[in-house]
Amino acid sequence: MTAVQKVAIAGSGAAALATAIRLAEAGVEVDVFELKAELSTVGSGITLQGNALRVFDSLGVWPRIRELGYPFDGLSIRAPGPGAPVIADLPEVQTGGPDYPAAMGMYRPDLNRVLLERAEEVGVGIHFAAPVTGVEQRGDDAVEVWVNGESAGTYDLLIGADGVHSSVRDMIGIDTKPERTGMGIWRAFVSRPAEVEHSELYYGGPAYIAGYTPTGENTMYAFLVEASQDRAGISSEEAARIMHEQSLAYQGPWESIRHDLEGPDARVNYTWFTSHIVPAPWNRGRVVIIGDAAHSCPPTIAQGAAQALEDASVLSELLVAADVLDESLWNTFHARRLPRAQAVVEASVQLGTWQLEHDRDADAPGLIFGIARQMAELA
Ligand SMILES: Cc1cc2nc3c(=O)[nH]c(=O)nc-3n(C[C@H](O)[C@H](O)[C@H](O)COP(=O)(O)OP(=O)(O)OC[C@H]3O[C@@H](n4cnc5c(N)ncnc54)[C@H](O)[C@@H]3O)c2cc1C
Repeated sequence: MTAVQKVAIAGSGAAALATAIRLAEAGVEVDVFELKAELSTVGSGITLQGNALRVFDSLGVWPRIRELGYPFDGLSIRAPGPGAPVIADLPEVQTGGPDYPAAMGMYRPDLNRVLLERAEEVGVGIHFAAPVTGVEQRGDDAVEVWVNGESAGTYDLLIGADGVHSSVRDMIGIDTKPERTGMGIWRAFVSRPAEVEHSELYYGGPAYIAGYTPTGENTMYAFLVEASQDRAGISSEEAARIMHEQSLAYQGPWESIRHDLEGPDARVNYTWFTSHIVPAPWNRGRVVIIGDAAHSCPPTIAQGAAQALEDASVLSELLVAADVLDESLWNTFHARRLPRAQAVVEASVQLGTWQLEHDRDADAPGLIFGIARQMAELA
């Protein structure tokens, strides 16, 4: 027996689908309600650390993900200017343990597709164009869920995995909100020059950080982090032009990136960094928020998706192992998840703050390695 038999999930990102897969595999009836009309087919890349890869393995999707993405170990730091000299080659901690590479890059829509296919395979009900619009507790052990303004039925639990601007968070009266950290990021999906075999970061020059990560044999994503500005409504041509211009201080593989940015198919997007962490508890009765709904951070150590997946993994493990959904289950969930997510949020924000303040004495490598070693412990 599991602690829940029928669960509704808002969202179809990594947190939602990972939870759905694990619950459905245990025989729980799961409905996933997604606001968007369909799965995104365009997007940028994502860096997935070992502790995320370990969760993919438990979902039965690791072989497919490894095949579609670009696994790698190591991180190089380069300097701006002629020849883009490599100033440090850093070993990376294998946060998923020795069975997984330290990290891998992947095209985001591929990741979403693999998770969605697995969810369908294990019998999850997937509903697109189906925003969760309301929720009402029904006694102590049930919750009624509204989708598109109409009742979708009564469930044992609603999981709000509906992202950084979570509506479910608002619906249950949690008023912690994501706040801008002062940085914004240009990201482009481009071709991979053969010399790029792992993530490389450039500190110095006009951007706070410039870098790229391979996502496949022929692809990678490149990014430039700037002080956040209002870039709303910018055309894709203008976005590519600005990113091209800001990249001129960087050489090496940036020559190839610029070549792609000059082409008619250049795909560039702009996003502000935010951060927040909802203090415990993340649930109100039979509704809980996980993933970016509960915590967000700038991707300075690329742990956001890994933390969302760990939320999913721990929550589904507890729900499957217990017979009842009671306070002790929630206490265990919060004890296992909150300190870890909080450590990631605080370190990610700290790294950004040091850059915004041009603090040259800060021990950024020490902080990054400390967090990586912490993440290597099981969640
Ligand atoms: C610029 C940037 C770069 C990043 N790079 C990395 C990286 O390299 N590595 C990394 O690990 N993390 C990275 N992150 C963080 C990572 O993207 C997130 O932590 C992760 O995607 C969170 O997953 P999630 O499932 O919680 O939410 P999401 O993936 O945001 O999914 C939420 C879903 O809920 C849906 N939704 C919203 N409202 C409703 C509603 N009312 N009803 C139903 N559905 C709804 C949305 O449409 C969406 O599909 C980055 C973040 C940013 C901003």
